[in-house]
Amino acid sequence: MNNIPLTDLKAQYLSIKKEIDLVIQNVIDSTSFINGEDNKKFEAQFAKFCGAKYAITVGSGSVALDFALEALGISVGDEVICPSLTFTATAEAIVHRRATVVFADIVEKTYCIDPKSIESKITKKTKAIIPVHLYGHPADMELILKIAKKYHLFVIEDAAQAHGAKFKKSTVGSIGDIAIFSFFPAKNLGCFGDGGAVVTNNSNLAKKIFLLRDHGRIDKYHHLEIGYGGRMDNLQAAILRVKLKKLNQWNTRRREIAKKYSQKLSSKYIVPIEEKSFYSVYYVYTLRHPRRDQIISKLKARGIQTGIYYPIPLHIQRAYQYLRYKTGDLPVTEKVCQEIFSIPLYPELHDNQIDFIIKTLCSL
Ligand SMILES: *Cc1c(COP(=O)(O)O)cnc(C)c1O
Repeated sequence: MNNIPLTDLKAQYLSIKKEIDLVIQNVIDSTSFINGEDNKKFEAQFAKFCGAKYAITVGSGSVALDFALEALGISVGDEVICPSLTFTATAEAIVHRRATVVFADIVEKTYCIDPKSIESKITKKTKAIIPVHLYGHPADMELILKIAKKYHLFVIEDAAQAHGAKFKKSTVGSIGDIAIFSFFPAKNLGCFGDGGAVVTNNSNLAKKIFLLRDHGRIDKYHHLEIGYGGRMDNLQAAILRVKLKKLNQWNTRRREIAKKYSQKLSSKYIVPIEEKSFYSVYYVYTLRHPRRDQIISKLKARGIQTGIYYPIPLHIQRAYQYLRYKTGDLPVTEKVCQEIFSIPLYPELHDNQIDFIIKTLCSL
């Protein structure tokens, strides 16, 4: 058996090569590189996919977070609650507003932010909550919205890992006040570079994001506000339009593989749990085992690549030291970080590769 990577972007490209090559050539021929038709069309299609009114493409998922928080008016002195088990961009956006990051713990079963922990961290200064739909699994949006309503807080969904995931009947991105997505190449919906989107049902927020991403511009020469150079280019939009058509099918395949893994691996490992109201799109498939590091090196020796999302939680990273969190402050997050690891899961993974991974994991 050849090496099995954690994700295989080449295999995905080859499966749609003809269509992708064609649309790339079309954009080049049109020389419409910025603010093109593909961008407008993709925005309409992606908003519809999320069940939301507006989608605004921006330079990356990180930029989307920055713009979402700025549009909501988060600023100096405000506190914003987010998980510590996430990519640093979630918390960086809070710091960029010169607001205070407040880390909450996670639910051990789902790895997503714990509503009880959120409630225990609320103060008079709290302005917003950023739940992260981690690994493609939605956070408990019902309880989070309830808390937000009770304390008058904004909810920003970080859906960078969860394009197409659902909570009850709603697709993520349409549930909170505003949501962000990343189109980083390895994400469930990825482009050929950096890209992202802000999604919302609120027309005022949508207008504000439009201004922020393009220098506060209402037309070529009129600047209404101070904004940024934060656009996503048209080539990416053209590529994403091709891929969006495949996304449901790809997510279904991810779920199929996850189901097979879970059936076969649950006797030896803690497998992801998906309760009734949740529809996960398995951006990554994460297992837990107390001998994690040993297992990872044995898998590596057999050519199976793994990843850890994330080995060091944000609250004990050097960059957030100024917040003075200590080891022990978020016990569930810290425990889980010692034991989690992710195994290859992508739509193009072959059944014989899946069987090899299962067989190897069962033999360790
Ligand atoms: C990928 C990711 C981001 C940032 O997206 P980029 O497009 O890489 O800037 C933000 N939050 C989470 C949870 C992510 O996984």
